[in-house]
Amino acid sequence: MIEINHLVKNYGSKFAVDDVSFKVGEGEIVGFLGPNGAGKSTTMNILTGYLSSTSGEAKVGGIDILENPDEAKKLIGFLPEQPPLYVDMTVNEYLNFVYEIKSCRLNREKHLEEIRKVTKIDDVKNRLIRNLSKGYRQRVGIAQALVGNPPVIVFDEPTVGLDPKQIIEIRNLIRSLGKDHTVILSTHILSEVQSVCDRIVIINNGKIIADERTENITEAVDSTRRYSVKIAGPQREVLAALNALSGVTSVEVTGERELDSYVYLIETARGADIRKPLFYAMAEKNWPILGLESVGMNLEEVFVRITDRAGN
Ligand code: ADP
Ligand code: MG
Repeated sequence: MIEINHLVKNYGSKFAVDDVSFKVGEGEIVGFLGPNGAGKSTTMNILTGYLSSTSGEAKVGGIDILENPDEAKKLIGFLPEQPPLYVDMTVNEYLNFVYEIKSCRLNREKHLEEIRKVTKIDDVKNRLIRNLSKGYRQRVGIAQALVGNPPVIVFDEPTVGLDPKQIIEIRNLIRSLGKDHTVILSTHILSEVQSVCDRIVIINNGKIIADERTENITEAVDSTRRYSVKIAGPQREVLAALNALSGVTSVEVTGERELDSYVYLIETARGADIRKPLFYAMAEKNWPILGLESVGMNLEEVFVRITDRAGN
C-alpha cells in the first residue's frame, strides 16, 4: 500500500533522508521509530506530498506521489507534526472546511458525525479550537486526517506533548483505526510502537537500521533484563551477594540512598529470571527488598543492541 524506494533528501551537504526504502502492506500498522532529527518527518512529508524529494520514489496504492499528487493524496490522511488547525474556527466549522478542500463526496452530515464519534470530539463540536486542550486538539487533527475516509493514514508523532491518559486514548484510537486502515506512525518512543504496531522500521541519521516484526525487536531488546532493586543492608556485602547470584552479569550501585538502603542496578543474562533467587538470597541474610522494578533500555541502547545483532 505504501512503497518507498531509495528516497533521498538533502539540504546542501546534510542528508536528512539517505537512501530510505521500505514497504507497508495493506492493513498493517507500522511504526517509524527514531530519535529526534533521524529523518522521520522528512520521510513522511515526502510520502504525503508536502515536500519534494531529492531523488527516489514514494508510492501510495501504486500511485507515485510526484507524478500524480492529487490522486495519491486522495488515498492518504495525514496528521503532520504540527496539525494544521485553524484556531478561530469551531471544530465543526473546521471539519466542514476540510471536507470542502478535500472535495469529499461522502454524505456530509453522516460522515462528519461518524468521524466526531470515532475521535471522541462530538461533545466539543461547537467549541472554538483555540479553547481546546492539547489532547482534544490532537484528536481534531486526527479527525481532519479521516475526512474522505482515506485507506492510508500517516501520523507524525501523534502523542507528543500529551499527558499519560491522553496518550493511552490516542494509542487506542490508532489501534482501532488500524483494523480497517493501513497506518504508519512515527515516534521516538519504543514502547509506543511496541504497544501499537505490527512492524517497526527504525531510522537513524537518515538511514534505515532495522525493519522487522515487533516481536523480533522486542525479543532483541529484552534479551538482557535489567532491574533496579532497593535493598536495606550493608552495601558491600549486598553487592557481593548480588554478584554471586546465578544469571547476574553486572551490578552497580546507583548512588541512591535512603537511611540503610541502597538502589542497585542489576543486569542479567538472556533467559535468566533472577527475581525468586534474589528474594530468597536477601531473605536468608535478613536484608529486606524495598523495591524491585525492571528498567527498560533507552533508544540509544536499543540501537546499539539492534545494530550489534545485525552485524553479527
Ligand atoms: P525527525 O522528524 O526524525 O525528528 P526530521 O525529518 O525533521 O527528523 O529532520 C531530519 C534532519 O534534517 C535533521 O537533522 C534536521 O535538522 C534536518 N532538516 C530538516 N528540515 C530541514 C531544512 N528545511 N533545512 C535544513 N535541514 C533540515
Ligand atoms: Mg519529526
